[in-house]
Amino acid sequence: MLIVEIEHLIADVKALIEVSGAMGVSAIMPCWFCRKVLSFSAKLKPEMAALPDFVDVGCLDAARWGKHTDASLLQLLQELKHASTTLIPAMMKRKQTLCGYKHIENNLLLAVPRPIKLLCLDWMHLIFQSGNFNRELFRILRKATTRTFHAYRAMTQYVSAYHYPAAIALRPNLLCDAHWEACKDGDAQVFKRSASEGLTLYAVLCKFFEGIVLPHFNGSADHALLVAMVKSYSLLCDVVDLLQLCKFGVKVSPDLLEKKIDAWALAHRAAYGTDCWFLKNHLTMHLADIVREREADDEETSIFACWLLDRNVYAIYKCTADLVWLHAEICCCDI
Ligand SMILES: [Zn+2]
Repeated sequence: MLIVEIEHLIADVKALIEVSGAMGVSAIMPCWFCRKVLSFSAKLKPEMAALPDFVDVGCLDAARWGKHTDASLLQLLQELKHASTTLIPAMMKRKQTLCGYKHIENNLLLAVPRPIKLLCLDWMHLIFQSGNFNRELFRILRKATTRTFHAYRAMTQYVSAYHYPAAIALRPNLLCDAHWEACKDGDAQVFKRSASEGLTLYAVLCKFFEGIVLPHFNGSADHALLVAMVKSYSLLCDVVDLLQLCKFGVKVSPDLLEKKIDAWALAHRAAYGTDCWFLKNHLTMHLADIVREREADDEETSIFACWLLDRNVYAIYKCTADLVWLHAEICCCDI
């Protein structure tokens, strides 16, 4: 007999949604950790706005999110399982829409006593990989590009003056105009770069913004906004400073992490309003809870990221494409 105990489920947002039954990014209830958080568009609908105590995903007050507990999430998933056999499809669809989860057979979360702890948010995919870093970097570079100052060229010149270890060498195409044009042309409005390159660059670019960009725009009409944007970016760098310690097995204080993330969120709001606030931003504010869940069990490494998977994703996928669901079946059977 094979007995498997699952301790962590770590993946990007898309995979977590797929395996947990969470409705996810474009859903009315996009956050799988919260019971009271609506999407921006849902909160604008009169029938949703009338729901008591619900907030939109831009709310920074965590006390109003109605965070799931292990018990509340298990109860919800059990209710959905029961409803799937008793409700007509239209009512079932409505029920699922309003709770942010859909019923899936052999839901992994129902096979464990602590589903909240199982859902390990991967900070690398929240910060990099079209995450907060990539979006804020793009916004600052776009704002700082004028007819007389090409922020991207200035950035590449600044970055080129540094020497990087061969193991983390930047790809040559990062430093050419064509790359910036590709970033600008994209619908996603992000700075296109790998997570590893983002981690290499984030602190250097903080110096670039503070030492080159802001002085250049001093006295201009855009200076105050750029100061606010760079402050947000700088505080995001403080958050990354803490998160990347996990690569070296260093334990991070959840209270300190929460304090840094809250400071970044407030600065982000001051710079962008809710215009640049996405589910990944909201999920980033859950990271301190992820650490607390593990700290309560006195686990040595308290926060995780998918760096290995990111670097070897294609090789891993090639080897495991046929095995993923086999593993899921093993995990979900009654043991
Ligand atoms: Zn949430």
